[in-house]
Amino acid sequence: MKIEVLESTENKLKMIVSDVNYAFLNSVRRTSMVEVNTMAIEDVEFFKNTSVLYDEVLALRLGLIPLKTDLKTYKVRSSCFCKGKGCNSCQVTFSLEATGPCIVTAGDLKSSDPKVVPVYPDMPLVKLASGQEVKLRAVAILGKGVEHTKWSTGLFTYQHYPEINLNSSKIENAEQFVNACPRKVFSLEGKKVKVNDILKCNMCKYCEELFEDAVTIKGVENKFIVTFESWGQLPPKTIILEALKVLNKKLDLVLEAIE
Ligand code: SF4
Ligand SMILES: [Zn+2]
Repeated sequence: MKIEVLESTENKLKMIVSDVNYAFLNSVRRTSMVEVNTMAIEDVEFFKNTSVLYDEVLALRLGLIPLKTDLKTYKVRSSCFCKGKGCNSCQVTFSLEATGPCIVTAGDLKSSDPKVVPVYPDMPLVKLASGQEVKLRAVAILGKGVEHTKWSTGLFTYQHYPEINLNSSKIENAEQFVNACPRKVFSLEGKKVKVNDILKCNMCKYCEELFEDAVTIKGVENKFIVTFESWGQLPPKTIILEALKVLNKKLDLVLEAIE
């Protein structure tokens, strides 16, 4: 397998992966998205809520806030030595107190651990009119996206690496041809069409439909453009490494079973 990293930022990893098949890539995709632990709010205790949102709706919004996750410090609650009762090793507590008029945001949550805080503090939670109040306590725990989407890590997508074959002799109007592609894959070199940025091609085949004999688009076998965008709880590299550990454990189980 060959991997060429095209882009690596805090929340995004884009790469070209060659010599792999769909099955392998799809296993990594599914495991990365829903089988790696992240922190999310699970329990909410309301002391006061006179906002326009019902307790359940506000609790759901709280659950969907991506939280910076520390996998080294925290254990999954059900396998913690507290036996699922909840302790400092398996949960983080948040408190929220606000009186309107104001817009309550994720950043208003006060965390018991400064390392576990909302990724996007400006996320609005509820708008309070004058005199309306919210007072609550929330508990965040580790979980997986397979249990609830609030624990999902991000979005992992892949597509075939495109192969574009141009037949210049069949292109009557080069400018029209270049402008037809919505992703601006082609450009003009004098009066000739050239492929400007093949990575932008999403293989929609629109150009092929319009200019049948002038271009053919197909995917290169076993070569893919892979993009992983994290919701921000963990860096993409950590998520993929954790996913590979999960896959390895599963394969060990298969080995054990057949040995
Ligand atoms: S397949 Fe779609 S994106 Fe790719 S070159 Fe053709 S029109 Fe552009
Ligand atoms: Zn515990």
